[in-house]
Amino acid sequence: MARDIRRREEGEGLGGVKEAAKWRNLWNLNISGATKHFLWRACTNSLPTNALLLKKKVGKDDMCPICKSESETILHALWQCTAVNDVWACKGSGVQKWSVMVVDFMDLWDRLCMKMNSGLLEEVAMILKGIWNRRNKYVFENVFSSPAQVYEGAIHSLDGFRNALKCKKANSSGGCPVSVIKQWKKPEDGWLKANFDAAIDEQNGIVGLWIIIRNNKREVMAAYSEPQRMKTKAVVVEAIALRRTIEVCKEMGFNKVIFEGDALVIINTVKENVMCWTWYGQVVEDVKSSLKELLHWKILFVRRDGNMIAHRLAKFALNIGKLTCWIEECPVFISSLIAFDMACND
Ligand SMILES: [Zn+2]
Repeated sequence: MARDIRRREEGEGLGGVKEAAKWRNLWNLNISGATKHFLWRACTNSLPTNALLLKKKVGKDDMCPICKSESETILHALWQCTAVNDVWACKGSGVQKWSVMVVDFMDLWDRLCMKMNSGLLEEVAMILKGIWNRRNKYVFENVFSSPAQVYEGAIHSLDGFRNALKCKKANSSGGCPVSVIKQWKKPEDGWLKANFDAAIDEQNGIVGLWIIIRNNKREVMAAYSEPQRMKTKAVVVEAIALRRTIEVCKEMGFNKVIFEGDALVIINTVKENVMCWTWYGQVVEDVKSSLKELLHWKILFVRRDGNMIAHRLAKFALNIGKLTCWIEECPVFISSLIAFDMACND
């Protein structure tokens, strides 16, 4: 992606100096790489909206899945749909939508760049990504967040990112003050790392399973939280968490995954290539046969301080109350931890 943007910065095939300046603007914004990538896809008309999918003969219908009254182009999904008006109108946003005739998203982004300083553009970028994430959550999970949730989530993530950058600048020795995430090691290029954990609420007979999947840029590819009613020993709960992690990776099409957790007994048992005859052997055998369906995988033990984000999330899962999945976005309550990790660790 960086190479593509840089190529465009140089103006390749897109109209020279003016074009180059536009891409440079985007590249220089203080937002995460994932948000830049999203904007670049929006500007180059490559977000999989229904209009694009129909054009590529993948989809059956180009209608907007939310308002169901117009073709879902990128401009419609992010700016023109009646469902996004309330997000842009959120109090304090400082970004009021104005009525202006634009032909496509690229045209809109050009006008925004002319009208706004970089601070406001960064807010707009985060809100656009929040709107797109909400649309995906609605399409794939039938969950629709309120305008205030989209707006506040975007601003919260941006604040987290800005604070992390400040911390990085202030701390020239390169250390990150958030020691709990210092120990997490990113996967090698081409691999994803899925950290998993479980928390047990013995009194109420509930366990919370948590999975967080990140790439080698430390970006969150997916997060997953599931509370389950059960009363059993920790070792079984951890095996179930690992089994669920493998299933989620398969469902999402992730084929090159490092599974990492702090459940030493289960990880060692899975690594041993002999039949597990313990009383929890059945879950372990399930895990082993599930792993066989993945192309490439590794399984690693990590001390609890390296699995701290998943461990904290597992406690949250106990309170969330329902199965929740985040795709290519980060749950708001850990976004600043992730931003610190991305800014302060290489
Ligand atoms: Zn619509």
